[in-house]
Amino acid sequence: MTAIPRQKPVFRFAPSPNGPLHLGHALSALLNGDMAASAEGRFLLRIEDIDLTRCTPEFEAGIYADLEWLAINWEWPVRRQSEHFAEYQAALERLTDLGLAYPAFMTRGETKTRVVAAEANGTPWPRDPDGSPLYPPDDRERAEFDRQQLLASGVKHAWRLDMGKALEAVGATLSWEETGDGNRGLIAANPGAWGDVILSRSDAPSSYHLSVVLDDALQEVTHVVRGLDLFHSTSVHRLLQTLLGLPAPIYHHHRLITDEDGRKLSKSQSDTGLAELRGRGLSPADIRRLVGL
Ligand code: GLU
Repeated sequence: MTAIPRQKPVFRFAPSPNGPLHLGHALSALLNGDMAASAEGRFLLRIEDIDLTRCTPEFEAGIYADLEWLAINWEWPVRRQSEHFAEYQAALERLTDLGLAYPAFMTRGETKTRVVAAEANGTPWPRDPDGSPLYPPDDRERAEFDRQQLLASGVKHAWRLDMGKALEAVGATLSWEETGDGNRGLIAANPGAWGDVILSRSDAPSSYHLSVVLDDALQEVTHVVRGLDLFHSTSVHRLLQTLLGLPAPIYHHHRLITDEDGRKLSKSQSDTGLAELRGRGLSPADIRRLVGL
């Protein structure tokens, strides 16, 4: 009997080149590299640059320089999301063809005005797990004729998932396997908490949620290792994977590195930037120690 060759585990680090990498990214990248090495797996780097206004070639070059300095080895070629917009559009079309996505015309300002007005009347507006208000129902409930007219007029719009219909289409409770630093085991997904999530932005022909699930599947990623700030997003990812017939990786959400006030690090805090720390004479071993590895 011939033995079936075992698929190698596939890990990935997926930064966005919209600022310099900091200690939080170092933890994520080093942990991914360590876990890939101990599982004798592959390690991929993916550049998540769908936001063409905030992502720059300079920040992307900085990512390669920082990771090389940390002695992290990834496979080439690197997948750059900005080179795959047509694939994300095709997936969006599948969801629209299924009647699960609709064009969303409200600007951020209009949404905010709606929320503020409702809350001024004493009605608390529902919020997603990150604390942002859910998208108002107006565009979802819009009459088809009206929708077609707006689309034909060329007015700027995003595309959103009709969460109610999507949950109905799936019809089952979703879950994921979690091995990270918070809750572990089989985690029940709750995508409904996010409301009508964005699938394609008015200024970018995709969204984080859509491109991340497609790329993880296309790159045959078996282990998603990322920060706990994305723990609840996994509910949305499991829903999209199910709707699009994509496999579910194992998830490992790791602790976050925080500043002295306990806040998550941001790309604008230069004192924790890797290039800055390298310039001050710290070594890769110092970085490992600083992030607790
Ligand atoms: N691009 C995302 C970020 O920089 C990470 C996405 C992921 O790991 O799923 O926060």
